Amino acid sequence: MDNLTSEQLIILETVERLCASEFGKYQTEQYYNTVPRPLFESLAAVGLAGLSIPEEYGGLEGSATTIAAVFETISRFDVSPAIFVSVHAMVSGLISRFGTPDQKTRLLPALAAGTTLAAFALTEPQAGSDAQALRMEATSVDGGFILKGSKCYITSAGFADLYLVFARSKDATGSGISAFLVPSDTAGLSIGKPERKMGAELSPIASLFFEDAFIPANCLLGSIHQGFKVALSGLAGGRVNIAACANGVARNALDIAIKHLRERSQFGKLLRDFQGLQFMIADMYQKLEAARLLTMKAANDIDAAKNGEGSINVKLSSSTAKCFATDTAMSITTDAVQLLGGAGYIKEYVAERLMRDAKMLQIVEGANQVQRVIISQEVLAGW
Ligand SMILES: Cc1cc2nc3c(=O)[nH]c(=O)nc-3n(C[C@H](O)[C@H](O)[C@H](O)COP(=O)(O)OP(=O)(O)OC[C@H]3O[C@@H](n4cnc5c(N)ncnc54)[C@H](O)[C@@H]3O)c2cc1C
Repeated sequence: MDNLTSEQLIILETVERLCASEFGKYQTEQYYNTVPRPLFESLAAVGLAGLSIPEEYGGLEGSATTIAAVFETISRFDVSPAIFVSVHAMVSGLISRFGTPDQKTRLLPALAAGTTLAAFALTEPQAGSDAQALRMEATSVDGGFILKGSKCYITSAGFADLYLVFARSKDATGSGISAFLVPSDTAGLSIGKPERKMGAELSPIASLFFEDAFIPANCLLGSIHQGFKVALSGLAGGRVNIAACANGVARNALDIAIKHLRERSQFGKLLRDFQGLQFMIADMYQKLEAARLLTMKAANDIDAAKNGEGSINVKLSSSTAKCFATDTAMSITTDAVQLLGGAGYIKEYVAERLMRDAKMLQIVEGANQVQRVIISQEVLAGW
């Protein structure tokens, strides 16, 4: 990202150094489908577990712009850690915003230190894009709630210590969806096997099963029956972070493609000298620049809205950035594979991994068709 302050640049240099020295050792099958705890700890050691947590609880309290720049930088090396850290940051940010003083004091210092890893559990087998159709039940009982139902595709499931779980609630005051902070050692909570997936190998997903799991009343986050608002407010910032991740992946792919074109010769000249390939590079560059600008605008909008600056449509700008940047990453990584020829299809050259990771980004935090539904609704309503 551009136009950054000297403080932000120092943070990014630290992140870049850490990624360059640490990430390589986890790119082996031994760590796939796990959250390598030492990796999370090394990210936490430079403050990245506390990105969205106020300083008074030990966090970095970064602006949306700083946080997006951090995720772009991490994703230039590997998007997987950026995904589980961004989910952790989303949950931490929601606790900072909606938590009671007791919840903040109890949970935020450990989240900021990285001794607690958080996960976000909204999706269910029957409720993905239509998340509001979720079926998991939270029954009010003396002293708390009983949770019953299941969640699927939950990032960090089985490795997280704390799950933010959304469930359907009903009591004498009304009904709706409520948000609950559920410790991983809750009796009645079990975790499925990690899914075998297409990419993002260091960001596992699995199902959660709740069988009459009791959680005390102080686990409720925000007001009863108002949990969907909590989820939606997390997703706006989350979408900007996914856009930033996409830009990091796309930048890596473009760098790999340029390096290859400078080194590889065919028909007696370097690939970089073929105009057909030069034009592909020009198009990749333009798309990436546009995606980064949209992402920066959306991050700026979030910061401005937080500072109470006018009526800013954060929903529109975050969906626009997410949709455009992740579609762009898919296009740039696909072109990078093509520019590498046979090498593009070989794991050692990394481009194919970036293509698989980009596909994930088009689906998570609201698939891109859903982003287009949101964008069109906002624009047609009179932006
Ligand atoms: C790697 C990974 C990590 C994830 N991490 C988490 C997590 O941490 N927490 C969590 O809660 N969830 C997580 N998810 C789930 C993710 O949010 C959902 O997969 C996503 O929202 C899509 O839901 P779905 O899979 O049920 O697809 P569906 O909703 O069944 O959609 C299938 C297709 O139909 C399209 N579609 C749906 N509705 C419409 C419509 N109205 N108009 C046009 N097209 C439509 C979709 O865009 C998609 O292309 C993760 C998923 C993956 C793959």
